[in-house]
Amino acid sequence: MAAAGGRCAQYIPALSKADPRAVGIAVTMADGTLEEAGDSSLPFTIQSVSKAMALAYVVETLGEESVFARVGKEPSGDPFNSIIRLETSQAGKPFNPLINAGAIVVSSLMPGRTGRDKVEGLRAFIAAATGREDLGIDEEVRASENATANRNRSIAWFLKELALMDGDVEECLEAYFRQCALLFDAAGLSRFAAMLAMDGLAPGSGRRVISGRNARIVKGLMITCGLYDGSGEFCAEAGIPAKSGVGGGIMAAARGRLGIGSYGPSLDERGNSIAGQLMIARLSQELGLHAL
Ligand code: GLN
Repeated sequence: MAAAGGRCAQYIPALSKADPRAVGIAVTMADGTLEEAGDSSLPFTIQSVSKAMALAYVVETLGEESVFARVGKEPSGDPFNSIIRLETSQAGKPFNPLINAGAIVVSSLMPGRTGRDKVEGLRAFIAAATGREDLGIDEEVRASENATANRNRSIAWFLKELALMDGDVEECLEAYFRQCALLFDAAGLSRFAAMLAMDGLAPGSGRRVISGRNARIVKGLMITCGLYDGSGEFCAEAGIPAKSGVGGGIMAAARGRLGIGSYGPSLDERGNSIAGQLMIARLSQELGLHAL
């Protein structure tokens, strides 16, 4: 894990305006109790943390066969926005649902015709998992990404060429940008993570949100692919399934124990929050959360 010296994401212009010194952490226990510190209720766009949420939503809604017919379950070892293996890999589909190519396939699978409809369904799913109904969309970040997304657009059109995406390409991209622009905070991420940690049961209410098997699928992909080409190193340090986003968030699910949400928009060269990785690894060591 990289040490100090990172910066906020620059390639989506609106993200570069975040305060690089902001830092917050939240922990949700099985009974729904929340412990938090620092900027834990500061809203930020969840970006790629949404990829794990969207995966949970589609496997639960459509079933794993139809999802994994179009996207793999293996780490790519490449940066999150890489396009190169789409053409060269034998499998003819993205390596996993947590890199951009796989996540855009997942967005296309979300029920609904328009990007707006698709993300309304996802938003309701997140609300059911967390008890938080207040997720907004940062329109400035959404528009900023849409205006500069040449690489994601290239990926999406290539997915269409591979017949991995039904429906209108621009609507699928709109769904992807909208889900990335969902505004949440570290406390909210910790609640979603706690649901995964409790094998699919919502913290507090104990209501089932996803099946135990689907929770395992999502966590398996998080621990192997959730921090992209930094997943192995983070796994060795923290040993907890986690998913990062370039907005500065990370959520991490310690099985049977608790969910963690962190915020720190200063990123390392792989696009993972520096403060978040350090805080989660430290918590894991102090509380004995390492799964391995
Ligand atoms: N919206 C971002 C993108 O596609 C998400 C990337 C990330 O959080 N790693 O580039």
